[in-house]
Amino acid sequence: MHNLLHNLNDEQLAAVTLPAQSALILAGAGSGKTRVLTTRIAWLIQTGQVSPSGLLAVTFTNKAAKEMMTRLSAMLPINTRGMWIGTFHGLCNRLLRTHHRDAALPQTFQILDTQDQLSAIKRLIKAHNVDDEKFPPKEVMYFINGAKDQGLRADKIEPYNADERKKCELYQLYDDQCQREGVVDFAELLLRTYELLSRNQPLREHYQQRFKHILVDEFQDTNDLQYKWLKLLSGHGERDGGSALFAVGDDDQSIYAFRGANVGNMSAFEREFKVQNLIKLEQNYRSHGHILDAANVLIANNSKRLGKNLRTDAGHGEQVRVYEASSDLAEAQWIIEETKSLISDGAARSEIAVLYRSNAQSRVIEHALFSAGIPYHVYGGLRYFQRAEVKHAIAYLQLMDNPHNDSAFLRVVNFPTRGIGLRSIEALQAAAEQHRISLYAAVPYVAGKAGSSLGGFVKLVEGARFETQQMALPELVRVVLEASGLLTHYQTEKEGADRIENLEQMVSAATQFVSEEGYGQGAPAHLGPQAQAQAGVPIVNEDGFEILDADAALPTVMSPLSAFLSHASLEAGDNQATAGQEAVQMMTVHSAKGLEFNNVFITGLEEGLFPHESSSREHDGVEEERRLMYVAITRARQRLYMCFAQTRMLHGQTRYNMKSRFFDELPEESLKWLSPKVQSHWFANKKSAWDETPLVGSDNAIAQKIAQKSPGSGWRIGESVAHGKFGEGVIVNIEGSGNNARAQINFGSHGMKVLDLSIAKLERL
Ligand code: ATP
Ligand code: MG
Repeated sequence: MHNLLHNLNDEQLAAVTLPAQSALILAGAGSGKTRVLTTRIAWLIQTGQVSPSGLLAVTFTNKAAKEMMTRLSAMLPINTRGMWIGTFHGLCNRLLRTHHRDAALPQTFQILDTQDQLSAIKRLIKAHNVDDEKFPPKEVMYFINGAKDQGLRADKIEPYNADERKKCELYQLYDDQCQREGVVDFAELLLRTYELLSRNQPLREHYQQRFKHILVDEFQDTNDLQYKWLKLLSGHGERDGGSALFAVGDDDQSIYAFRGANVGNMSAFEREFKVQNLIKLEQNYRSHGHILDAANVLIANNSKRLGKNLRTDAGHGEQVRVYEASSDLAEAQWIIEETKSLISDGAARSEIAVLYRSNAQSRVIEHALFSAGIPYHVYGGLRYFQRAEVKHAIAYLQLMDNPHNDSAFLRVVNFPTRGIGLRSIEALQAAAEQHRISLYAAVPYVAGKAGSSLGGFVKLVEGARFETQQMALPELVRVVLEASGLLTHYQTEKEGADRIENLEQMVSAATQFVSEEGYGQGAPAHLGPQAQAQAGVPIVNEDGFEILDADAALPTVMSPLSAFLSHASLEAGDNQATAGQEAVQMMTVHSAKGLEFNNVFITGLEEGLFPHESSSREHDGVEEERRLMYVAITRARQRLYMCFAQTRMLHGQTRYNMKSRFFDELPEESLKWLSPKVQSHWFANKKSAWDETPLVGSDNAIAQKIAQKSPGSGWRIGESVAHGKFGEGVIVNIEGSGNNARAQINFGSHGMKVLDLSIAKLERL
């Protein structure tokens, strides 16, 4: 019976089998947090402490949720499909669908991904004649999302100046616009659910009673609203005890502060829930010793830590290999050589990950992999559901389900072109504004030629809707692709073949979706659950689940079309990679969170890149970058490579970077420097505290800077010097004069040093 627990160490076992009370599992990377959480769910169910429908588990991505369900099915003979395991967004979507009336939403409300949200805001700014230079749409979007993440509506914000007042106004207008169109953005999913549950006592109590256990992975990256949401749902402070909230996390891996995550939630949780059960897991099962030492020593440089360490039984393993390349091209070449040798030693390509801080770095490496004929997969590029042609098709599908979605309407009203010009759209927008209705509903108010071409579009939508009335989802998708004219359009386009392939893939995506989500194969795509039941289509129930309103799986709360559209939006917002394809895995450090690989490259370890230059402007910025570096290092099981380049082309400029400060924070004995002794090259630190002039630009500009004579010191930038201890070097910058003159000198393999010129014994070469 207890074989679930066989493979756990003592602390893990203690964590898995804790009594039904609040608990915090605080542990470093690779210590089995996710494993503990999954095993606890299985154990709670197996021992009969809770039914599968009586617990709710929050994961960081949709993929992680799927993986958790797969693991659970392997451990227990249960059907996991209807279980409440998902992301905050996914779970909120489910609650809002079920209780859409109480939440004042149409049942077919649609979800805006970030791209859609931005275009909705652009549209709003234009419609209200707001100066988009003073109020850039992106900034307005961050403002709105930031407020929502804190649980604040526009009328609850106290603006501190006129600009902020304007932003609040836009926030309100934006919310009105979304409401009119029946759409919600990601942050809204959460806020709307939160408001629904806080206002509706019977509903709240229903769910509070129902979820005896709430389990949260990656707790360090929850934002304020998510924390409040958990508190509300757990019934904490409302009824005796409340649900048992089981949170696992690692403060050292908090890397989403820029998105509103608040690592302070860990201590807030401990305090507010009076957590008695705090367990630390310190045994690491992922990484070899040198890798772990590197991670531990590095992160010790952070000041704000809850404190814990990691140890391993795996032995030291190999040292971390460090390579200094002369350029980004040389860096990529080195990665290729090492990758080839890993593969020839038998490494699976999918067990090789190349990590970088910014997406812009991937191009050069991609090119090198491509030229070398090594299959690779890049994550974080445009995901399938974000590609233009796919978004067009989705927009048509959205109109089938909810024609009042203005974003969808505008995206395709004249795509493929059907002679509806800007003027017609403006007339339509004016009519919609005047009657305060959707664009679709406003069409009859537009007269003349514009009116009739718009009418033609409405007929097309209505026609397709009518034609697909009884169709199952995959068939509906196929018909809409045809009827919209999208397929024909791309057939005539020169580079259209790939796009057509992507569009056709949507039919397969729909087929797969229907079967995975448990809809009957022939279930009419348009019909909601009750209607389906009446139509004699069996609803797939979960074995042994009691069925109460939203207690069942998606099929009972959403039509297949609505569910598919939600899936498309939520997936588009999921920026995490999946391990597993037989290709080298390329991704940003952020999207590698929670994953592990036998071999990992961390690239571009240069000042300004990693740590990123933006970090010097932000409070706590460098500490967050260090946590990011900690996440990067701890993805590796057996082999870790780090590299950096002296020069790099980025955003069209050559940058001369200093190696990352993180190298100075890593234990020397765990590193193996592979680079040849550096010749008398030099490179400068753009972000050096004592040089505010950015040293980026063409080589010419750099040369000019070098030629600059420094006042009074007698030394010149660009001059070669020799030092008794550091050997040969090149002066990169000079500050001050006379006795206060200091020089920044690049001593190649000894690194960059700042020396007091009146003290240091330098020789001219
Ligand atoms: P991260 O902080 O990166 O999310 P984590 O703490 O969630 O890491 P897991 O991913 O759960 O760690 O586990 C790391 C690896 O160690 C996994 O491959 C897992 O299967 C393995 N592992 C965990 N516990 C044990 C154990 N007791 N025995 C053997 N392997 C284990
Ligand atoms: Mg984990």
